[in-house]
Amino acid sequence: MVGSGHSFTPLFRTDSVLLSLDRLRGLIGVENGVAHLWAGTKLKELGKTLLEKGWAQESLGDINAQSIAGAISTGTHGTGIQFGNLSSQVKGLTLVTAAGNIIDCSVAEHPELFKAAQVSLGSLGIIVQVRLRVVPAFQLHYRSCRLPLDETLKRLNELKRDHRHFEFFWFPHTNKVQAKFLNKTDPIPAKNRRWIPFYKLAVENGVFRCLSEGARLFPRLSATVSKLSAQRVPVNEETGYSHCLFTTPRLVRFHEMEYSIPAEQLASVVEEIQSCIHKHRINVHFPVECRYVKGDDIWLSPAYGRDSAFVAVHMYKGMPYREYFDAVEEIFLRYGGRPHWGKMHSLTADRLREIYPKWNDFLKIRSGMDPQGLFLNPYLNQLFGMK
Ligand SMILES: Cc1cc2nc3c(=O)[nH]c(=O)nc-3n(C[C@H](O)[C@H](O)[C@H](O)COP(=O)(O)OP(=O)(O)OC[C@H]3O[C@@H](n4cnc5c(N)ncnc54)[C@H](O)[C@@H]3O)c2cc1C
Repeated sequence: MVGSGHSFTPLFRTDSVLLSLDRLRGLIGVENGVAHLWAGTKLKELGKTLLEKGWAQESLGDINAQSIAGAISTGTHGTGIQFGNLSSQVKGLTLVTAAGNIIDCSVAEHPELFKAAQVSLGSLGIIVQVRLRVVPAFQLHYRSCRLPLDETLKRLNELKRDHRHFEFFWFPHTNKVQAKFLNKTDPIPAKNRRWIPFYKLAVENGVFRCLSEGARLFPRLSATVSKLSAQRVPVNEETGYSHCLFTTPRLVRFHEMEYSIPAEQLASVVEEIQSCIHKHRINVHFPVECRYVKGDDIWLSPAYGRDSAFVAVHMYKGMPYREYFDAVEEIFLRYGGRPHWGKMHSLTADRLREIYPKWNDFLKIRSGMDPQGLFLNPYLNQLFGMK
């Protein structure tokens, strides 16, 4: 199965048959705070359609290009310690199995299958319909500002507690972060400055791409580029409907690795990444993104059983990333890290079994649902430790 193809890992790469639900999209209906939709629906259209009916998703990630099935299959998340990932919004799923049967699962119906299917890497069957918990439509107030890294790390508890959604981007080789806050606001007419969408497109993407090309051609310029970017962090605010403000245009191409770590370890991990970049003289100018996600009980969710911080490292496409990602991954693993399934990582079954308490239960459900491995590919075989 493929959704929008936005995962960095080859979860859907195959020489065989690739199936897409791009033509199985749309909202079927909303009843009692549960939206019923076709699994190929893209998050972008979902946001708009839900708003027309007066509803919204409580939290979303950075972009909205993903299909709902693809997003939940990898545990896609936004930020906010009171909010779980998108899979935790799922109330029920309809699957078409390898044998061609149709199964509904939820907490009440096939509960074990449900806990496995909420994050399943496309390996249990075809998700054709999703029942999603939604909330009444709401508006958010967005604020972006510059803060010193050391101050941000000291204030993490307060910042994550006092804001509905809080994240920050640390610029390597500097002591600066861009902090972003999103909080619920009354539905007042937006007094947005017209230049904000233009700024996001032209400056955050256009100028950053030019600077990134400079760093690619002359990697030693990376620190300078990072410093320049940190100085130009937008200091602005905006008000609007939630699905518009959660996401931002991401037009600059990059490689990415992201891990979840226990929430309380965020400051130590960021400090270690800072020392690692310094010690290995790593040429990186892309900021390190830090977010919070509430713990859940979904078997393969990186936030299983613990409130988590998610830390993502990026490298501009065309620049070497291996040494950087390997060094940072080693830090994540020392802090009990679990990889985001849609982002780059080097783990396979032996290690994954140790860090996911429900790993074996998942594999048991998987082999029961698909004994012949119809939904597997070489990457999943390696990940699950199959031949
Ligand atoms: C620019 C960018 C920004 C991103 N931002 C975030 C972010 O803010 N937060 C975050 O957590 N992640 C983020 N991601 C990662 C992204 O959300 C995930 O990789 C997500 O899975 C991609 O969704 P997709 O629809 O493209 O799915 P795909 O990448 O196409 O597929 C992902 C998985 O879903 C399975 N799948 C797809 N459709 C079905 C189906 N109908 N039935 C069963 N299985 C299915 C596939 O087999 C595969 O295993 C980002 C990625 C990019 C490129």
